[in-house]
Amino acid sequence: MKSRSFSQLTSTFCRIDLHALRWNLAYLRSLIAPAVKLLAVVKANAYGHGDIEIATTLSKQGVRHFGVATVQEGLRLRQAGISDSIIVLGGLYPDQFAALLEHSLTPVVTEHAILRELEALGSARNRRIECHLKIDTGMGRLGWLADNVHRWLPELKSLAAVKIQGLMSHFAVAEGIDSSSRHRQLARFQKVLAALRQSGHGPVLAHMANSAALLTFPESHLDMVRPGGTLYGIFSHPPLSRDNPLKPVLSWRSRVLQVKQIHRDHPVSYGETFVTTRDSIIATLSVGYADGLKRSLSNKGWVLIRGQRAPIVGLVTMDLTMVDVTDIAGVQQGDEVVLLGTQGREKISAEEMAGWANTISYEILTSISSTIPRTYIDEEEA
Ligand SMILES: *Cc1c(COP(=O)(O)O)cnc(C)c1O
Repeated sequence: MKSRSFSQLTSTFCRIDLHALRWNLAYLRSLIAPAVKLLAVVKANAYGHGDIEIATTLSKQGVRHFGVATVQEGLRLRQAGISDSIIVLGGLYPDQFAALLEHSLTPVVTEHAILRELEALGSARNRRIECHLKIDTGMGRLGWLADNVHRWLPELKSLAAVKIQGLMSHFAVAEGIDSSSRHRQLARFQKVLAALRQSGHGPVLAHMANSAALLTFPESHLDMVRPGGTLYGIFSHPPLSRDNPLKPVLSWRSRVLQVKQIHRDHPVSYGETFVTTRDSIIATLSVGYADGLKRSLSNKGWVLIRGQRAPIVGLVTMDLTMVDVTDIAGVQQGDEVVLLGTQGREKISAEEMAGWANTISYEILTSISSTIPRTYIDEEEA
């Protein structure tokens, strides 16, 4: 579908550049050894980009492993025809096992109770269930504590209906180039891996690296890497965006709804948090916090109109936002507004917007409402 068909019904939409997505995938693959596998993380609606379209595009590029947060997300991909391996990274409740098995989703097992229940289920159904074990090496979130490996290792031998296919962990601090904590985490993980291998267990796929570790910590690539953000050209830690050719996949656009001249000393928006200090031209945009434009951008953020930056003035409201266009000549109703992306020579990245909103780019993109249409473009085919 072309953007034009949307723009008459909803003034705000996201454009997803599949060419940029493939470019990013190719670049990330160039950073890993040929034998290292790549699991594409497509949780949270592929970081707001549209899980089905993103997974379909990546699958056509030969990506054979996908990571989701929940069983429900995995189910959506299966129903859309994705037949590659789908790992549920975000943990499991026992009442989800039936759906998990029915749709051939791969569980990440984070504790004994889950392992025992899977074993019971597998033997009841006379079926071998493949899973990955999650080790907590310092994140303090999901998984078995690395230090307790001696307690659970013997139990793995008695498993008949569960096959440990992979062993994984997750970095708490991946961005610091000299971070000693990530070396410590990797060392703990390798200890567990060695213990598992020594215990006579067959080969397991070891994986730990997220985007930041993929870019800056090659020792952590192991058998498989798990990038999310970098596939979409966004960075959890802004300095990571330097020195690589990764491209943002998503841009977010709207249109000017009304342009109005107001006098000096005129308040704008709820609470009168902004009052004009000169005769001003204010443009009202039909996008607000219900669409995912962070309210914390009030009196802080910027948008692009006619290739120039216009500051957000007053509080962002539920459906509407005001910007000061006094210094931009000729702004009219219907003019394109870029919230994220490029216009003329100007650009607003998700990292820049995140800085204004005191958050990270991942939250900016996953906050864009699912009601905002996503339009897919493919430069190569266009
Ligand atoms: C989200 C997630 C990732 C991807 O992280 P990025 O920083 O987006 O690359 C990798 N592994 C796990 C377990 C995750 O939850």
